[in-house]
Amino acid sequence: MRAPLGRLLLLVSLLLGPVANLRAQLTFEFNYSLDTGFFSGANESRRLHLETVGSYVSQFLTATSLAGITAGGSNTWTAQFTSPSDPSTTHSVTNLSVAANTVVVYVGGASLGSSVLAQATLPGISASGESAWVSNTVYKRTEGPSAYTRASVAALSFNSSTAWFFDSTPLSNSSFAGQFDFFSVAAHELLHVLGFGDTRVGSGWDRNLFNGAFAGGKSVEEKSDTPFGVPLNAGRDHWATNTLSFSTRDGAVQETLMDPDIAAGVRKYLTSLDLRAMQDIGYPANFTAVPEPATFGAGAGAISLVWAWRRRGRRDQS
Ligand SMILES: [Zn+2]
Repeated sequence: MRAPLGRLLLLVSLLLGPVANLRAQLTFEFNYSLDTGFFSGANESRRLHLETVGSYVSQFLTATSLAGITAGGSNTWTAQFTSPSDPSTTHSVTNLSVAANTVVVYVGGASLGSSVLAQATLPGISASGESAWVSNTVYKRTEGPSAYTRASVAALSFNSSTAWFFDSTPLSNSSFAGQFDFFSVAAHELLHVLGFGDTRVGSGWDRNLFNGAFAGGKSVEEKSDTPFGVPLNAGRDHWATNTLSFSTRDGAVQETLMDPDIAAGVRKYLTSLDLRAMQDIGYPANFTAVPEPATFGAGAGAISLVWAWRRRGRRDQS
């Protein structure tokens, strides 16, 4: 039976029309092209650990609606960021294609000094072309109006001099005295990649700052004892040191993932306050996503290993 052409076209447009706005789980696309050894050669197995952390964080972000970025015609854009393997240099990528609900993270390792475990760097972005494409798609990653600039690309560098602990079962208790937990630190940095602590004007974080505190409604809801905003550190890019919340793993009281530092031998999971901040800066967050350890590897697709780390002697995570 043949369908009238007009009706078929309408059906096709109905099917295609909403696709661009579909909400889906966020994906971190790790790019190792700038790595010089932290994730390569004898250390290549570390990629599995990083990918698993990406899956762990993504499970809380199952309904994002980040537009894909595709250059073409007069539309062109460039992202410039600190090289993850050599923070003294910058790297530029032009007209990178970024899939919908995907954030590209260039990763590597470098000597970052004795007090920094890792650092995430958000890019400087320039774009030209159709104004709607520039202002909405490139900067805000939306097809329509949005208040917030949202992430597309970032650089992430781990300190190559740190005694890291890589855990194949990060959702189980582990002991790793004297080592620093790659799982915790990587998860912390991935929230920075998405814009937690991004103090640049126009970011979702910046728009929630009030008198040096974080005044996002969802976050204040949990911290009702500080109704004018959740206290931050001096740089206004983390919760204040030792800020407590509730672990998404078991509801236990836990220091937030996004306070400024972590001790050796310590594992941190995302807390409810961390996720509330993500909601406040424009990412729908799912609070009930934590999988059972047995299913964690399956959630990571081809990744069957899962890990955990810890450290002691507090260090800045940056
Ligand atoms: Zn940090």
